[in-house]
Amino acid sequence: MDSRINIFMIKVQKYSFYMESWAAAIPRATTALTGSVQVVIIHHTALPKCTDLRKCQEQLASIQANHMEDRSFDDIGYNFLVADDGTLFEGRGWGVVGAHAKGHNYNSLGIAFMGNYMGNTSSQLKKLIQFGVSKKFVDDNYDLKGHGELTQTECPGTHLYKALSQLKSTS
Ligand SMILES: [Zn+2]
Repeated sequence: MDSRINIFMIKVQKYSFYMESWAAAIPRATTALTGSVQVVIIHHTALPKCTDLRKCQEQLASIQANHMEDRSFDDIGYNFLVADDGTLFEGRGWGVVGAHAKGHNYNSLGIAFMGNYMGNTSSQLKKLIQFGVSKKFVDDNYDLKGHGELTQTECPGTHLYKALSQLKSTS
């Protein structure tokens, strides 16, 4: 556990925005993404929203345990997660292939909203993606898509779809 927390803290210092740490388990394996991703895929966790930092950290640990134990993923599936109050958390992070959208994982970044979309969250999402573009993790002509635009799923929910179209028009 400890080494992952340290890894997170080191990574956090490189970002131009604030990201909270959480006590993640060490991934079984990581696969590097090649080049800038073309698509940013938005998900929701379909779990109740977490209401404070501690609850969010606990929820992250349980999502990771679910993904690694029940679904046999190497790590939490998403690259990043955004709490309802806008707090950003690193999942697999930049430059790592995620496990969030079958058939698209090798050319996309997966960002999951924890709970229901609230207004101030989208500015955090925008900062995150803009940082990714500035560092060439994300292509500057990227597509922002909800998971349901790529496959048959209700993810990321109707609230978030509305927010996504707003985000697209202002980016
Ligand atoms: Zn999804």
